[in-house]
Amino acid sequence: MYTVPVACPHDCPDTCAMRVTVNEAGRAIKIEGDPQHPTTDGVLCTKVARYLERTYHPDRLLYPLKRVGRKGEGKFERISWDEALDTIADRLKVIAARNPEAIMPYSYGGTMGMVQKEGMAARFFNKLGAARLDRSICASAGAAAMRATYGAGVGMDVEQLDQAKLILIWGSNPITTGVHIWRKVQEAQRKGATVIAIDPHRSLTAQKCQQHIAISPGTDAALAFGLMHILIREQWLDQDYIERYTLGFAELAERAAHYTPAYVAQICGITAQEIEGLAALMAKSAFQDKEPVALRLGYGTQRVRGGANAIRAVACLPSLIGAWRHAAGGLLLSSSGFYPMNTAGLERPDLYPKGTPRLLNMSTVGDHLLNDGVEAVIVYNSNPLAIAPDSRKVAEGFAREDLFTVVLEHFQTDTVDYADIVLPATTQLEHSDIHKSYGHRYILLSQQAIQPLGECKANAEIFRLLAAKMGFTESCFQEDDRALAQTAFNWQHPHTAHISWETLQQQGWQKLNVADAPFAEGNFPTPSGRCEFVSSELAAAGLDPLPAYLPPYESVASNPELAAHYPLQLISPPARHFLNSSFVNVDSLPKQLPEPSLEIHPTDAAARHIQDGQMLRVFNARGTFQVKAVVTERIKPGVVLAYSIWWKKLSSDGKNCNEVASQALTDLGAAATFYDCLVEVQVA
Ligand code: SF4
Repeated sequence: MYTVPVACPHDCPDTCAMRVTVNEAGRAIKIEGDPQHPTTDGVLCTKVARYLERTYHPDRLLYPLKRVGRKGEGKFERISWDEALDTIADRLKVIAARNPEAIMPYSYGGTMGMVQKEGMAARFFNKLGAARLDRSICASAGAAAMRATYGAGVGMDVEQLDQAKLILIWGSNPITTGVHIWRKVQEAQRKGATVIAIDPHRSLTAQKCQQHIAISPGTDAALAFGLMHILIREQWLDQDYIERYTLGFAELAERAAHYTPAYVAQICGITAQEIEGLAALMAKSAFQDKEPVALRLGYGTQRVRGGANAIRAVACLPSLIGAWRHAAGGLLLSSSGFYPMNTAGLERPDLYPKGTPRLLNMSTVGDHLLNDGVEAVIVYNSNPLAIAPDSRKVAEGFAREDLFTVVLEHFQTDTVDYADIVLPATTQLEHSDIHKSYGHRYILLSQQAIQPLGECKANAEIFRLLAAKMGFTESCFQEDDRALAQTAFNWQHPHTAHISWETLQQQGWQKLNVADAPFAEGNFPTPSGRCEFVSSELAAAGLDPLPAYLPPYESVASNPELAAHYPLQLISPPARHFLNSSFVNVDSLPKQLPEPSLEIHPTDAAARHIQDGQMLRVFNARGTFQVKAVVTERIKPGVVLAYSIWWKKLSSDGKNCNEVASQALTDLGAAATFYDCLVEVQVA
């Protein structure tokens, strides 16, 4: 028996440190949160607590497969690795000889490890000259916003959050999507903190907060401006912080002047008193009590047309009240900007055969497959048939007979059903990797705990073998996973120079060297070193340098013609027991969410003669999907909620909520706009 330090590989801000116990037969028999790791604190979420069930699931793909049925039918036969790799290499050579940019990689957060995510894969596609992928499905709007405002995805240390006295959980449901952040919030609550949720949905988290402000989807920037308006009107400002550590206050104040509480209340579907009350609470904590005010800013805020500007606007608030002066104050969207990456060394863009290849956006994969001359798609760490918007077009694209599709996967997902060749990939226990986090500030080294099941291979090894078949002779294609892991970071940077490989191996993790309150005196990684209310980067790009409220593409107020046909705003946040489209098939988990459902307010249900438990048809011009009705006051009138992301094949009609989602992109960052979606609902 032995125990191995492993990092949770999933797309979750908590990036837990885990301990895996392996028995004499080499089988993993226990998985637990590392009790020594400060943020994991011995606890895993309900999903990854079942990671062994997932790893040893009888439906694991264990051998390479080739398609023998129609595309989408999911019929395959076993082949050897040699046949699989030869088939792929032969096809890619033919396409690359004509136009390598007709080859499209498609990947995202199926694993967050630097080695198995893009380490060897990026080198492979760069050498090939394949199209580059704009990985925009989740966080690129927020990343662009934080870069414009603060220079990078930087924020407060989650380990300090229990010391905050006012916490705004804005567009996030951490009980579902970051349970360790929620544990810190609970500690703060026990110490007397006031916690307020801002969310169109009375989520599990909102139910446990002292106050819930239920704004309409896509109106977050307006609320932020309303708060600014009051803070400025009442002079509830840290003038010293603003003068010394920010840029563009006068311009910001001029814009905020238009956002009176009455106007904002009308936009957001809340009362002016709620806005006045929230601003007063912020001022009381910051100036009367002189206590830390913390914002946990979530990803829901950015999944609309004005998503990046919403993050920009909300992100101004901590600087106006000087919240960054406290270690437990400021905001946390992502901590990933603290990590000194060596992306060029790991991914090797210098391998491009000629010039920088074209960029294809993963959020508009449907249109790319149908219109843009894509001849081959290599999918790894993702499940585009289930997760990409405008799903009907995505399925039409993948069904093209002339498209060559390769999928690296653990299970026979919706996307695998369309593959020509399927390659069985290892899970986190069967390979090694190195991880950063976007919630805390640790580097984690994940060690291989067990031998690969069946004939599974790690992603990096698969791309190494493919490189050999393609005849790529550069020495970087021979580097092993340890060398890739060591290349991932700049180890000379002040944040990492103290970290030793030996400690990482023994303990599994080590913290970056970042001060507790790094922005107490400005020092933001912007060109000016200040919080840029007026962004020099956006000004240089000819864009509006100030944050703005941009109404959704699709809402009753912003698009009344469309709303006349489809009057309900659909949001599709994560289900507690799924992680994107992972864990949907782990038998013990969906029992807790047995079938796709739609939360609808009693007023909206009554208007449509909908009873709780009835099957519904949700539709707009893009598509339709079926769900069971949950009539509840948890959701605002005019808004409906479908938990995501079900595999389509596990639903009664073979569809999921992305059938109706749009391929329209955000204001900055070219991200997906899943929550910017009008629908109508009727009894099926
Ligand atoms: S909370 Fe997040 S990081 Fe931790 S085990 Fe669960 S999915 Fe992984």
